[in-house]
Amino acid sequence: MNNLHNISWYASKIIPELPKKVFKTSPTRLLGGLAYLIVIITGILIIALTKMNLISNFIISIALGFSFAAMGFLGHEILHGSVVKTSWLKNFLGAVAFFPLSVGPKLWVKWHNMNHHAYTQNEEKDPDAWMSLEKYLKRPFIVLIYKIPLQLRSLVSFISLSITFTIHSTRMFVEYILDIKEKGKLTLWAQFIVPWTVWIGLLLYVGITKWTFIYLIPVLIGNFIVMAYISTNHRLNPLVEINDPLINSLSVRVPKWIDILHFNFSYHTEHHLFPRVNPKYYPLIKQHIIKHWPERYNEMSLFSALISLWKTPRIYYKEVNLIDPEKGRVYNTLYKELK
Ligand SMILES: [Zn+2]
Ligand SMILES: [Zn+2]
Repeated sequence: MNNLHNISWYASKIIPELPKKVFKTSPTRLLGGLAYLIVIITGILIIALTKMNLISNFIISIALGFSFAAMGFLGHEILHGSVVKTSWLKNFLGAVAFFPLSVGPKLWVKWHNMNHHAYTQNEEKDPDAWMSLEKYLKRPFIVLIYKIPLQLRSLVSFISLSITFTIHSTRMFVEYILDIKEKGKLTLWAQFIVPWTVWIGLLLYVGITKWTFIYLIPVLIGNFIVMAYISTNHRLNPLVEINDPLINSLSVRVPKWIDILHFNFSYHTEHHLFPRVNPKYYPLIKQHIIKHWPERYNEMSLFSALISLWKTPRIYYKEVNLIDPEKGRVYNTLYKELK
């Protein structure tokens, strides 16, 4: 693949054109988090302490699920350092925001900031990248899964989005806990155990029926919402050797009110270009990217991106294609020949 550029190549062209305020922290973002936190605590208390019918509980559950996801988006932003500067405060707020999804700040920073951002779509080093045909052939279990017809496989994988974030984050935890030296191991354990203790403790305290509405349904919804974005962030893009954010990332379009509720998480290319810039400035950064490199920028509606995911397999072939190994059918990624 020719003509790829790294993050600093793009950033150096845009930074001189951006106002200084873009690079400042924005603590006012926490007000949105506070609103979600109030919704979560109130919702949990109502279900736990009152006797409401199942439909009312279910409606509250949905509100909790949307709030779980939104808190995750804010936690992501906080742990990139665009909300507050002070290290302990950043970690504390990140831990609170990621609490519903049971991800500790130390795990998240290692997994997301230090590995996913640093090596995006590098098959070996990006923990979120999907495998190539070569790797696939060495994994008998995945080979077995790919014997299932594409439509059925897509149906199962879309339903699984409601658990994928929790499964993947737990996998990341196991990987890092085995890898990490003594220093930091205890923190990683503590940050993993505390949220799970609270959620399991709540089960023992309120009983299975109320717990289903307080935690189980919300965490399934929360998983689904965050994964609906995450699965479109890079999975339609090629694998790359140079971390080129315009080639290896996709920004999706959602209605304005959803962007407000989700802290502009839809602007993923902008995010990979400037992960420490507050997402409220991503629409401005988008304008600059389109002005300079309209042919390189990838954008589609979230709905179209999900449809494309449904229609394609997730095994990479020669980096720029996807392949259904059973049928031998090859599909395009979003990659187009670059001048
Ligand atoms: Zn990403
Ligand atoms: Zn990020």
